[in-house]
Amino acid sequence: MKIVDIRTHKLEVPLAHPLRISLGIVTHAISCLVEVVTDEGIIGYGEGSPGPLITGENLAGTVATVAALREKLIGQDPRDIEAVNAIASRTVAYAMTAKAAVDIACHDILGKSTGLPLYKIMGGMSGEIETDMTVGIDEPEKMAALAKKHVEDGFDTIKTKVGTSFSDDIARVKAIREAVGDAVKIRLDANQAWHAKEAVNLIERLADYDIELVEQPVQRYDFDGLKYVTSHSPVPIMADEACWDSKDALRLVSEHAVDYINIKLMKCGGLYEARKIVQIAEAGGVECMLGCMAEESGIAINAAAALGAGMKNITRADLDASFSLSELPFEGGFTVKDTRHLVLSSEPGLGIKGLKPWVMA
Ligand code: MG
Repeated sequence: MKIVDIRTHKLEVPLAHPLRISLGIVTHAISCLVEVVTDEGIIGYGEGSPGPLITGENLAGTVATVAALREKLIGQDPRDIEAVNAIASRTVAYAMTAKAAVDIACHDILGKSTGLPLYKIMGGMSGEIETDMTVGIDEPEKMAALAKKHVEDGFDTIKTKVGTSFSDDIARVKAIREAVGDAVKIRLDANQAWHAKEAVNLIERLADYDIELVEQPVQRYDFDGLKYVTSHSPVPIMADEACWDSKDALRLVSEHAVDYINIKLMKCGGLYEARKIVQIAEAGGVECMLGCMAEESGIAINAAAALGAGMKNITRADLDASFSLSELPFEGGFTVKDTRHLVLSSEPGLGIKGLKPWVMA
């Protein structure tokens, strides 16, 4: 089997609810959807979603990089995942969203050509995964009302964005805890907002509201700060922006700098690299969460959900971005059970049947 073409489609659609985080505001789903076409008629679907606030990339760059990868991958067997990733690494440094798009599509082809759903290829621990629901930064009362609505809809873990000011963050978390009651898990994400000692001080106060974990309290490059917070915080700490790939994971895990790692396919360049992170983390006793970019439109979330369901060391999921879209750009993929469970397709690969006509236009 050989790759004969890689087609790209730009997607830029407004979110039903813009998401404000400490770094800025996300208003649109922004994605490069790809079709990897083979000489045997199988098409693999992938997605590269640049999150400018996190990855520093943009849509035009992702599309151009996929075009550069296309030149090197024509004639390559897409089922040789190691080889595909080796070619992508040699072709361009960084550019993880473009690499993720191609990697996901090649995994989809591997599933389709073997007749196996992707979660089976990823390990097959389970065929479904439970996701949390994220509440963006806003006035405390508005955040509490939204969190309460999500719980009434069926979510039982709320991820809350924080990181503007000490007093506002305490007011937010207090209001949300009072609104959702004691049975709901609350996890926080500061998106790099704090200095290390400030973080410990604030987390000690926030711990009164029974917090499950705090994601990325300090700047992504502040390794020593992250390690300090992890060793002094009464609440477990998760690395997100501090962990891009398996090399970051190895250092974080071996130096006991975090309690958990949040993996995103758009940071690490796809399923191939994500699996390495999961396995390094597992060897060091660190559990992983599968996350997504707020800009993602769902194809990559299908891939992340398959990975998360398939591997036992992925114990949490924050795969809620596609809930913000009024219409998904593709047919097929996972179904949603009881609001919060993503049930993977039993069809081969990702189970995606095709892109909607409005994407192809
Ligand atoms: Mg995060």
